[in-house]
Amino acid sequence: MKNGFKKLKFTLALSLFPIKPLLEKIGIYYDLVKIGNDFYREDFYRTETRDCAVILPHCLIHEDCPATFSKVEGILCIGCGLCRCGEIKALSEGKGLRFFITPSVGFTKRLAERKGIKAALGATCDFEIERGFQTTRISLRGVHLNRRRVIPQAVMISKYDCIDNDVDWDLLKEIILSRKD
Ligand code: SF4
Repeated sequence: MKNGFKKLKFTLALSLFPIKPLLEKIGIYYDLVKIGNDFYREDFYRTETRDCAVILPHCLIHEDCPATFSKVEGILCIGCGLCRCGEIKALSEGKGLRFFITPSVGFTKRLAERKGIKAALGATCDFEIERGFQTTRISLRGVHLNRRRVIPQAVMISKYDCIDNDVDWDLLKEIILSRKD
């Protein structure tokens, strides 16, 4: 049974999100990603491993990344060690999770549909959250794509920049390692 307080908190956070800038002007701040993560966490961990993926954005790869690009799978990390995506890939696959690096939010949505992903751990920035909120339905049941619903867990990347970005890699690892095999 879903915790009633978390449900109420997330419902409120979602409905007030469009007026967040206004609320901030009067000193009211809240972290939608953290509230959402808390709300979805149980469902994320409960989703079968085979239906779950780790999907990182391309801004985390090194600018000299030697990986090739597949229209179907995204950026094909070879774990060269220039960035930490390879480490997350190895860890994810070691836990039986699928791993992808995508070039855009649109690609991520199509990937989730094509691959039948039901839960995903990703990394995102404020800009993508605001844009996503305008173009994608988010409900208590997850993020709604065309024919699919995905239960998310998200970690914020450090800045809005498409090159050599950074993220809390330890937090990503912690979320992956917390999954039961
Ligand atoms: S570890 Fe993977 S993603 Fe990072 S630079 Fe190397 S091949 Fe590219």
